[in-house]
Amino acid sequence: MIELTDVTKAYPGGVHALAGVTLTIDAGELVAVAGPSGSGKSTMLHILGTLDRPTSGRVVVDGHDVARLSDRQLSALRASRIGFVFQQFHLATGLPALDNVANGLLYAGVPMGERRRRAAAALERVGLGHRLDHEPHELAGGEKQRVAIARAVVGNPALLLADEPTGNLDTASGQSVMAVLRDLHAAGTTVVVITHDRELAAGLDRQVLMRDGHVVGDDMTAPHQEGETAW
Ligand code: ADP
Ligand code: MG
Repeated sequence: MIELTDVTKAYPGGVHALAGVTLTIDAGELVAVAGPSGSGKSTMLHILGTLDRPTSGRVVVDGHDVARLSDRQLSALRASRIGFVFQQFHLATGLPALDNVANGLLYAGVPMGERRRRAAAALERVGLGHRLDHEPHELAGGEKQRVAIARAVVGNPALLLADEPTGNLDTASGQSVMAVLRDLHAAGTTVVVITHDRELAAGLDRQVLMRDGHVVGDDMTAPHQEGETAW
């Protein structure tokens, strides 16, 4: 599903957010990308999601060499194949959950009735069939994030990328969000979850550990040492 080869990303000012990352993620995986703040996790997610291009190196997403695609082709790839979830939910205020989710299909050329029908099904899927008419301010944090997940998957993407999806949630809400991500994975979606929550990462099938723009561990199952606070 994803192949990064010697990928670097330099930002103006000389920051090497990614300093040579080689990583393969197969279709059907459920992967945590973990590591301390500033280690390059979000930069990597932007590159995996084709929201940003690397400074050097090769990026292949869903069989497409990103360097060979125009920005317009990349937008089409994202719209049809990739869903995104962010820490801050990014829901439209004053708009019912149903419309927030239906809008996720705006660029797929789906007629409005069909958009709303699929949005209702996606909200059912994340356990929010009883919240279709609720606006974001009427929803709890975990519910907002589940609306955001419904929006991300309403187009049935092959790949779901989540950047700190539980970062703004209490433990119970975070667990409900993770349960939804696991369900989507079980149904066949490739899921990549960025987190700096060690426990959450340890609960997923595979853990990719980042530090200073490098992958410093993969499939790590090292037990958490007593009293250890850093990665
Ligand atoms: P993480 O998500 O692991 O916290 P990021 O990928 O956000 O890490 O950031 C990695 C490094 O790149 C940090 O040093 C950060 O300050 C820097 N960085 C991220 N985005 C930008 C940007 N748009 N411009 C300049 N530096 C950036
Ligand atoms: Mg980040």
